[in-house]
Amino acid sequence: MKDLKELTRNELIEDLKKAGFPAYRGEQVFNWLYKNGISKTEEMKNIPKKMRSYLDNNYNLNNLKESKRSVAVDGTVKYLWQLNDGENIEGVYLPFPESGRHSACISTQVGCGLGCSFCATGIDGLKRNLTTGEIVEQVLEIQKDISGSNFAEPRLSNLVFMGMGEPLANFDNLMQAVEILNSNQGLNIGMRKMTISTAGLVPEIKKLAKVNDQIGLAISLHAPNDRLRNKIMPINKKYNINQLLKTVIDYIEKTGRRVTFEYVLMDSVNDSPELSVQLSELLRGINCHVNLIPANPVPELGIERPVQKVIDSFYDTLVNNGIQVSLRKEMGSQIEAACGQLKRKEK
Ligand code: SF4
Repeated sequence: MKDLKELTRNELIEDLKKAGFPAYRGEQVFNWLYKNGISKTEEMKNIPKKMRSYLDNNYNLNNLKESKRSVAVDGTVKYLWQLNDGENIEGVYLPFPESGRHSACISTQVGCGLGCSFCATGIDGLKRNLTTGEIVEQVLEIQKDISGSNFAEPRLSNLVFMGMGEPLANFDNLMQAVEILNSNQGLNIGMRKMTISTAGLVPEIKKLAKVNDQIGLAISLHAPNDRLRNKIMPINKKYNINQLLKTVIDYIEKTGRRVTFEYVLMDSVNDSPELSVQLSELLRGINCHVNLIPANPVPELGIERPVQKVIDSFYDTLVNNGIQVSLRKEMGSQIEAACGQLKRKEK
């Protein structure tokens, strides 16, 4: 069966037209899904019975079942969903009351094949790519969960594809999902409000620059030299820092967009004063922003958050060297908000 949520608005209208339904019916169905957050045909009030049973018989309308939901005191919500084949994925809602932003962190794969040494998701390897419908539905589920009586109020303003999996390894399904989520007839999440985070798949970054110059790009760097990065991020053996930075610089030139470098600070792994100097030198002159993220502890991997003094000194070195940097506040640590943790805990 086709998944209704893998279709753009036009595709959905065309699909239903082929089955003999007028275009406005397709528009109504799209509205139910993305303007009202309704995925059950019996709740699609203005759709005739015959069409509702056609939809039920020919399309899959639901991909996710919530199996756990944890709320942290700062308002962060972590979701564990079961997919139709029994696999599990996670998503996170992050509220930023100071700026009024409502952000969601979305998964793109079941597991991950890149095996970063600090990541709970990578432990069991890659199971499969998520479908477009499974990616889209995570956003709809979070939107529904945070909505009051009106769907999309408050509205999710930002999306980061930074949950389980390497987003660019699931390029086509992700880009189709991005188009659906961006539709101004649907959730209308701005292209510039979405960010794809990658561990550094060089060919796919080049491809992204060609097909979408609006969406944000974040690079999970986590180490400023090949020796350390090879050790903690095996993908670096395939595409080393030199190749990665060259590609990022080309990307910035081509798109005119500033790139973010994510750097998760892990105690005694990548938090020394020498590394902060190396990082500053590596990124000097690049139109970028560094996001320093104190690690959420992952006890099974021996990952700990550095003490505050070390975090502050790493941050100060970057600032003093003219690097634009922000220190991300730690969110949701008491609910295992580091990627892959909740799923492992449930196992
Ligand atoms: S950090 Fe990201 S790229 Fe690395 S194993 Fe985890 S999910 Fe995969």
